Amino acid sequence: MNSGTAGAATSVEHPPLRVVQGGQLRLDLLERRLGQIESLLASRPDGCDEATSRVWLSEAERLLPLAGDFDRARLLQGCAVVREELARTGRPCERQAYRDDADAAALYEQLGEAAHAATCYTSAAISALRSEEVSEALELAVRGLVAFESLTPVELERDRAAEARMAGMLALLCCQFLDHERALRFAEIAVGQIAVGHRRWGSAAGLLARIALVRARELAGDPLAGAATGPSSRREHLLDTVDHIGRTLADGARGASSLVIGPLLLAEVMVERGEAARAWELLERADHAARGPQVGWTSGPDLAGLQLARGRCLVRLARPVEALAELDGALGALHPDRDLVDHVHALELRSLARERSGDAAGALADLRRLTDLVWVRHRRQIGGFMEQIWGRAGAEGRRRDLEAREQVLIRTAEQDPLTGLANRRGVERFCSTLAPTEPICLVMIDIDHFKTVNDRFGHATGDATLREVAEVLGSSVRSVDRVARWGGEEFLLALPSNSVDFGAEVASRVRRRAQEHHWEHLAPGLGLTVSAGVACGPASELADVLHRADAALYAAKRAGRNRVVTG
Ligand code: GH3
Ligand code: MG
Ligand code: MG
Repeated sequence: MNSGTAGAATSVEHPPLRVVQGGQLRLDLLERRLGQIESLLASRPDGCDEATSRVWLSEAERLLPLAGDFDRARLLQGCAVVREELARTGRPCERQAYRDDADAAALYEQLGEAAHAATCYTSAAISALRSEEVSEALELAVRGLVAFESLTPVELERDRAAEARMAGMLALLCCQFLDHERALRFAEIAVGQIAVGHRRWGSAAGLLARIALVRARELAGDPLAGAATGPSSRREHLLDTVDHIGRTLADGARGASSLVIGPLLLAEVMVERGEAARAWELLERADHAARGPQVGWTSGPDLAGLQLARGRCLVRLARPVEALAELDGALGALHPDRDLVDHVHALELRSLARERSGDAAGALADLRRLTDLVWVRHRRQIGGFMEQIWGRAGAEGRRRDLEAREQVLIRTAEQDPLTGLANRRGVERFCSTLAPTEPICLVMIDIDHFKTVNDRFGHATGDATLREVAEVLGSSVRSVDRVARWGGEEFLLALPSNSVDFGAEVASRVRRRAQEHHWEHLAPGLGLTVSAGVACGPASELADVLHRADAALYAAKRAGRNRVVTG
């Protein structure tokens, strides 16, 4: 019987101490696990130190089977990032990054987290392509686009960072397919979504600049022809863009961006415009800074871009022997599959430098390797893929539109029309997506004497007040938590946590905020307080936890309102 379970602490059949201790022990374990997942995610390494990355990966793999769906998706996404970084720096990865990303995306999709799903699918597509899994990449790219298209304008507005991230990923994806014109458009969207000076502006703008340079060289035909082919306004416009980004980065305060990347971009533009001597001065300073203590690049892919630029400049300056040293360094770090465009440019330049330094055999060998890389064939082969992806995403999108209408109906059924919060059905579905053993902490909140608000200020003000209470609640919880309107002037917070103390802390914060909130803009003289009841338990015993939270709320009301009681 319900009352029997709810009153377990006073029940005769179940000695109170043992029940409380047994339950507490299990919940403590779960809480510790949640804590471990959070701290592991917060300490994700950047992949530079292989040993640290491997320890992190094995810890993530240990926690994966113990995590709920949302945390599992986050862990998988983290694994993908670490593996991708290991692969980028040439270390073997036993499980390819794209599989983790694809699994994470599928989980996010199930949970209705379309923005996360879109990002993971696209990132998976990029990794798959880098591992030469072309058809896999195609599938994943289509899914990424469809998930992205399914985001409503409201969702996009709420999460502009998601749009920027997604556009940046699509730009990278187009680069992998050598569709640089399309890549440019996406990179421009990404940059446009981020304010200049924001932490992520530099990387988005850096990507745009790199693509613009590649495209400008494509427009010139020959990577060395540059200005000699005559001014093309499109090409000039692209170089202006790179110049502008280079200046902004160089004027900034951040280490590598201002000391190396900004000057590097400016130098690349100068080389393209036939000012190699000026460019060389900048490249010398950038090289010095890159190897200096503030930046500390020593080798690998970071340095390869700089070496390639220096090689290009030295070839222009007719210093082929020095160019060779730089290009050898760049080619050692650039992977033919992963950095196809740069790799091809480096080979073209080195064959030229070898020829000019009298090494005809070496030049021929490089040319043969270029032919092996099937620059043209590769291009033709995969040039049509972006069209395919767009075409298929379009058809898939229409099918999804129909499904989306159904989803809208389901969502409406689970949403409270006045506040936009979840209703009871919404909370029930949220709790049903949690693993049965996952702990849930419920905070039942009721506005004190709300009837007098209606009586004094009218029903319309009462409605506006309820909407604003919903906002106060929404801003008081974490992203993993859910806020619902349980009924009339009663709200429910569902917090994945087993700690009553944590629930009480959130409830107290809400109580304080409600009391201190400035309500008078809704109606002069308006003020309010709330009472709350808190209870915890496994997600599978939702009805019992609800019952205890409700009983605690009732106790708070009886004790005089404007307070929190834990069950
Ligand atoms: P207590 O501190 O005991 O909770 O007092 P109370 O007045 O808040 O509680 P009571 O249950 O007596 O009254 C709840 C009031 O909430 C009555 C109802 O008019 C009002 N209410 C419920 N839903 C809505 C709504 O959607 N809009 C408005 N404006 N008022 C609502
Ligand atoms: Mg009330
Ligand atoms: Mg009530």
